[in-house]
Amino acid sequence: MKTDREAASSIEKLEEFSQLLRANNLKITQPRLRVLDSISEKPTAISQPDLEKILGTEIDRVTLYRILASFEEKGILHKVFDLNGTATYALCSTKCSQHHHHDQHVHFICSVCNSVFCLDEISLPKIALPPNFSLHSIAINAVGLCDSCKEKQS
Ligand SMILES: [Zn+2]
Ligand SMILES: [Zn+2]
Ligand SMILES: [Zn+2]
Repeated sequence: MKTDREAASSIEKLEEFSQLLRANNLKITQPRLRVLDSISEKPTAISQPDLEKILGTEIDRVTLYRILASFEEKGILHKVFDLNGTATYALCSTKCSQHHHHDQHVHFICSVCNSVFCLDEISLPKIALPPNFSLHSIAINAVGLCDSCKEKQS
């Protein structure tokens, strides 16, 4: 049973996701809304296999793959590779747009649980490139212990 407040906030969230899809010229579909909802529930970035576990049989693998790819292209999600080289996805800041990701921030990856956190408040240093080079992306990962793994160790 959901409380009234939970129901209200999930309606608000659905409205927010619908607006996000509309703003990106994507049709509002149940699978797209479910994917956004599942990703926003987690404080960490999430991989496709983990999303599959959450969504169960609701969305087939090919559809999920296409949704993630289109979200990434539209600047709704950004991809971060965890320590195993698995792609994980996190929601972008509102500044991102198609082919133009502005959320180039540091990511923290826990060496014990392999969780990927967006450290939005830490921006990346300006990289002075040699003449005629053009920059597409910078990835800086900080690796260490997340708060819950650190707690378990002490
Ligand atoms: Zn982005
Ligand atoms: Zn951890
Ligand atoms: Zn991030």
